[in-house]
Amino acid sequence: MACTRHALLPLPQFFMENIMKRLSLFTLCLLLAGVMAASSAYAAPQKQIVISGESRRSSSAPKQHFTGNVRVDPAFETQAPQRVYGSYVTFEPGARTNWHSHPLGQTLLVTFGVGLTQEWGGPVQVIRQGDVVLCPPNVKHWHGAMAENAMTHLAIGEHSEGSSVTWMESVTDEQYRY
Ligand code: MN
Repeated sequence: MACTRHALLPLPQFFMENIMKRLSLFTLCLLLAGVMAASSAYAAPQKQIVISGESRRSSSAPKQHFTGNVRVDPAFETQAPQRVYGSYVTFEPGARTNWHSHPLGQTLLVTFGVGLTQEWGGPVQVIRQGDVVLCPPNVKHWHGAMAENAMTHLAIGEHSEGSSVTWMESVTDEQYRY
């Protein structure tokens, strides 16, 4: 009988046994709760996907939205319900985006070189490797390289109804001053 066995156990061992039992029951409850939460959040279970690096090809940024030579290297896309994506964008010296805005904002992580960014009505700011720029939603801005230096940033954004950017006019040589 259990109580007889317990009665014979030294006191510390008796406590340890009971704690272990409670712990394992607690762990089991946690696991069950986790499985139930996961199955309700994802009615149709999705499988993990590994996307090869080679499948993400480099491309030139479209000339109508950029000044100078700009290369885009897709970093990652995500599956619904996620909507975040990332792209490495490399600007040759003097190259820059047009003025534009993002419906859900954008995060820029400068991974190489020295560049520039400006919010409409604000000063031109120098950005260097390691700097992070937080662009709020619907704020008109541009980003690019310095005149004598290339710049690469990882641009992280989110799609809103299929769109992640609203393109506007080009940044003139007058505006491209620092
Ligand atoms: Mn932007």
